[in-house]
Amino acid sequence: MAYKFVDNYREKGARKQLVNHLEKRGIEDKRVLQAIGKVPRHFFFDETFWNQAYRDIAFPIGDGQTISQPYTVAYQSELLHVRKGDKVLEIGTGSGYQTCILLELGAEVFTIERQEKLYQRTIQVLPYMGYQPHFFLGDGSKGIPEHAAYDKIIVTAGAPFVPELMLKQLRYGGLLVIPVGDEKSQKMVTILRVGENDFERIELDTFRFVPLVGDQAW
Ligand code: SAM
Repeated sequence: MAYKFVDNYREKGARKQLVNHLEKRGIEDKRVLQAIGKVPRHFFFDETFWNQAYRDIAFPIGDGQTISQPYTVAYQSELLHVRKGDKVLEIGTGSGYQTCILLELGAEVFTIERQEKLYQRTIQVLPYMGYQPHFFLGDGSKGIPEHAAYDKIIVTAGAPFVPELMLKQLRYGGLLVIPVGDEKSQKMVTILRVGENDFERIELDTFRFVPLVGDQAW
């Protein structure tokens, strides 16, 4: 597939405005803001909709799925406290935008998507943009046990409960960020693994994600 992506002053300016907006909404982590300022979000949109790419909204990417709202991406990224070299599992690749932000933060990213069309697109677009995560196709609600343990796990779809299998794939000291609730609204939850069967759970703000669908999900 041939891509013809351009990143001109118009898009760069819009990105800068988006960063300012996110800062005003309360995102404080400078590294996250820098990453948002760097990744060309319009590359994940059809050219017809480039004018929508730097609005703080979620947007359809086909197959009933969405590219997450920039604020949500920034919020989850900030919670994750990614350090350079962290091994991060992302469940729900979607467009791949969040994946690029994690890579910009210095993570080694393992990302899994259950929808083949989205997976096929990201395995082409991300390397074209210069981003190289480890891509997987399948049900991420069980995590990816073959590559565990992870320093961080981020779930970008709404779960009905916290899957036990994910918790088991965290390193001690590792952190899971997952939206949990019903189909209409979810609380962002962080879970820190402090020991074999010892976890610290914090419930934060309310969001609305597309559902996490799978064996350990809806
Ligand atoms: N963060 C992504 C982005 O910026 O484009 C948006 C992700 S979208 C809100 C959620 C994604 O999770 C969808 O692409 C959906 O197909 C995927 N998903 C849902 N359940 C899944 C599962 N069990 N395993 C892997 N992916 C799943």
